[in-house]
Amino acid sequence: MLTLDFHPTGRHFLQIPGPSPVPDRVLRAMSYPTIDHRGPEFAALGLKVLADVKKIFKTTQPVIIYPASGTGAWEAALVNTLSAGDHVLMYETGHFAWLWQKLATRLGLKAEVMSHPGSEVWRHGVQAHLIEERLKADTAHAIRAVCVVHNETSTGVTSNIAAVRKAIDAAKHPALLLVDTISGLASADYCHDAWGVDVTISGSQKGLMLPPGISFNAVSAKAIEASKKATLPKSFWAWDEIIEMNKTGYWPSTPNTNLLYALSEACDMLLEHGLDAVFARHQRWAEGVRSAVKAWGLQIQCADPAVYSPVLTGVMMPEGVDADAVRKIIYERFDCSLGTGLGKVKGKMFRIGHLGDCNDLTLMAALAGCEMGLKLAGVKLAGSGVQAAMDYFSSHAATVLERKAA
Ligand SMILES: *Cc1c(COP(=O)(O)O)cnc(C)c1O
Repeated sequence: MLTLDFHPTGRHFLQIPGPSPVPDRVLRAMSYPTIDHRGPEFAALGLKVLADVKKIFKTTQPVIIYPASGTGAWEAALVNTLSAGDHVLMYETGHFAWLWQKLATRLGLKAEVMSHPGSEVWRHGVQAHLIEERLKADTAHAIRAVCVVHNETSTGVTSNIAAVRKAIDAAKHPALLLVDTISGLASADYCHDAWGVDVTISGSQKGLMLPPGISFNAVSAKAIEASKKATLPKSFWAWDEIIEMNKTGYWPSTPNTNLLYALSEACDMLLEHGLDAVFARHQRWAEGVRSAVKAWGLQIQCADPAVYSPVLTGVMMPEGVDADAVRKIIYERFDCSLGTGLGKVKGKMFRIGHLGDCNDLTLMAALAGCEMGLKLAGVKLAGSGVQAAMDYFSSHAATVLERKAA
């Protein structure tokens, strides 16, 4: 038997930006008995979660739930709407946008990658005007879809999705808008319908505070129309049969019953508290964490304060410091996991998650672990980030909105 005894006492500090710490209430819900997924009780659960997730995506249109990680839902969004060789415009904001492009290419799509001009690597969100210019130049309307990541988990940079919609409309271009908010949903505001998104992709183990294992496609009428003509091979991922069976609360194949209990519980928690309160809470935590990074005299990976992520903060290391060596010290000495730098920023930065089940004091502990680890690694700090974050949290009480009881 695998003995999970490497975290000897107390709670491990899981400060990576997903999987995020799961609230006890959600873990308990998962321990209900597994039931017959074709039986009468199941339909009540199925219909409830399908209705609840629509509120989280802010949509009245179908949301498809897959027993898969986010990567599966990425693939589902593409294979349901596109055909072999289709031209897609993908904006590289960071490692996850890059991975999605790789997946699209492997599926046989022609992925055109755009990125921020200049030499800084992955420090900005999507520049909607560049998308507008590119679409205007595509007078033949060869581009079938524009793909962007809402919350780039590899860096802590968000993108303005409403602005991307406006850009597509301003160019009078028929391309579909596909958006990955795998890590943003339920922590950063997201409006599938109001922002005119055609397919929104999300996953369970980040802002939604669930364990890994389910993922989502929220769709539009235009996306469903496109799916009728799209010819990339699809069977397991095909929306049509799932949407049809979901009308009665069931799925064509076996859904992840116990994770659906968890989803139901997480939706109750989010909706009881109110989404605006949840978003405000993450904004405040993010501000507290950034105040610590600034006091240390370190750079925040996101170079544009307008698009700082409320979900996680990327911390850049000074020249010559290996971010993974710092992470290792913090893990081994203080039992705290931080996100590694991915792809092009490997070793150059680490990530602090402020998502899932956390509060002011768990974040303070994580920041204390970071500060001690940075010092042990020999990083010269300008001042105490812990003190700065304590000052921030004590002088900015959570608003009535954030504390509001159900
Ligand atoms: C985590 C993540 C993914 C990949 O999801 P998996 O669940 O690991 O398959 C894709 N995009 C973003 C933005 C993510 O945060």
